[in-house]
Amino acid sequence: MKGFELYEPTTIGEAVETLNRLGSGAKVLAGGSDLVSGVMKDWVEGEGMPLPDALVDVTTIPELRGIRVDENGATIGANTTLTEIVESAELTSQYPLLTESARSVASSLIRNFATLGGNIHQRPRCWFFRGHDFDCLKKGGDFCFSVGGDNRYHAIIGSDQCYIVHPSDTATALLALNARARIAGPEGERTVAFDDYFVSPGEDILRENILRDNELMVDVFVPAPAPGTRQSWIKLKNRQVYDFALVSVAAAFTEENEVWTAGRIVMGGVAPVPYRATVIENQLQGANVRDTARQAAAQIRTVARPMSQNAYKIDIAQTLVERTLLEALA
Ligand SMILES: Cc1cc2nc3c(=O)[nH]c(=O)nc-3n(C[C@H](O)[C@H](O)[C@H](O)COP(=O)(O)OP(=O)(O)OC[C@H]3O[C@@H](n4cnc5c(N)ncnc54)[C@H](O)[C@@H]3O)c2cc1C
Ligand code: SF4
Repeated sequence: MKGFELYEPTTIGEAVETLNRLGSGAKVLAGGSDLVSGVMKDWVEGEGMPLPDALVDVTTIPELRGIRVDENGATIGANTTLTEIVESAELTSQYPLLTESARSVASSLIRNFATLGGNIHQRPRCWFFRGHDFDCLKKGGDFCFSVGGDNRYHAIIGSDQCYIVHPSDTATALLALNARARIAGPEGERTVAFDDYFVSPGEDILRENILRDNELMVDVFVPAPAPGTRQSWIKLKNRQVYDFALVSVAAAFTEENEVWTAGRIVMGGVAPVPYRATVIENQLQGANVRDTARQAAAQIRTVARPMSQNAYKIDIAQTLVERTLLEALA
């Protein structure tokens, strides 16, 4: 692994100042399960993706960690571990969708040190991207190897030049819960809704979110759900012990006598960003959820454009959406 300088700021201001001074050669470090044990150990680099010379460890900043819940919602520090989220009784009672999505990430060993911020900002798992010998578009090269290669786990919706699927389970759940992120940078703080947080390859092929090199995520705010909000999370994976989502579905909605009044359906494993399935939500608006679930789920077929080896994901996506809606009602 390439050597690097390690910085250990103790305040957000110090971390931002360090990132700003060091420029694009520095990266934020949290648990390190993706950045160090994945990207850096495996030399995932290219012209558009140089390996960092410096890491700014943010786990030394106490104010980035912790969960606070009040009548307005929950604020979760970016450094909060996935295990802390899973084990939070307050989060589980109000946001079972979020705690179940966190529980479905990796193994308990990894969840013990992997953070929320790291989970949301982890890099894609496309095996060509992760392979040192493939200088693909996402690393600044001029070719996407998935088009003619093994693309069984790639995207079926919304791709442009690059066909990654967004790997984060918590990001999928948080978008369904209408979360927003607080970001600190040299100009101060800004808040960005998860609706606007993720960047598709067509917008910028070298990144997956709007975060700049000199910024870091401080926390995530999840608004208190309306009384009676139905929530459900289903994730299908290949290896049951632990694995990334083949397809996942996060649903959060309100209903009156099972008639959909408002809500969100978000899917993981299908698109380069957590995919909000408005095409399904529109079908459910004002309709009886139980009676319409199958027909609404089938709407995914109108937006899916599979590659040579992943049309099977369309059937999975349709079935999982229907199942998630019915489970939320149960
Ligand atoms: C075997 C294995 C199985 C896995 N399975 C799953 C799975 O099923 N589902 C899933 O969702 N994930 C899965 N993962 C990914 C795992 O969840 C992530 O590696 C982990 O959550 C990253 O957290 P971390 O704190 O270790 O981040 P790090 O590795 O330290 O950082 C990851 C990225 O986030 C950035 N970052 C971290 N914190 C901040 C912050 N506060 N502000 C801005 N940027 C930040 C870093 O710069 C880096 O780019 C798996 C990983 C492994 C190794
Ligand atoms: S899908 Fe994206 S990350 Fe994978 S090879 Fe193609 S350009 Fe690279």
